[in-house]
Amino acid sequence: MIKKDTQYFKEKLEKEKKILEDELGTVGQKRDGKDPAWEATSGTMEVDTADENEVADKLEELEENELILGQLEKQLNEVKAALERIENDTFGICEISGGPIENDRLEANPSARTCVKHMNQH
Ligand SMILES: [Zn+2]
Repeated sequence: MIKKDTQYFKEKLEKEKKILEDELGTVGQKRDGKDPAWEATSGTMEVDTADENEVADKLEELEENELILGQLEKQLNEVKAALERIENDTFGICEISGGPIENDRLEANPSARTCVKHMNQH
């Protein structure tokens, strides 16, 4: 992969990382230096509520947020891993065959780890 392309995908990945972090911020809270780094929150409702229905809604919302947060965090980790591959000069290389990943595929998903042929084997 030539340097110019790597820079282009790096910018794309940085943008995606920012978007994912913003989205994570709407369903959870970042916990600095802790693992997992993100914790789901239940959003807008009052914390001290005696209403049983509201408590149930709140729990439901928290569960939903946990699911969304889990998916977003997974995507974020993929983006971070791709940025690391750029740093290590292994970006754009299929993890299975060691061959180049198609540009179209990287365009659609810059954090792809494999070429099109091996995408289901990952
Ligand atoms: Zn491959």
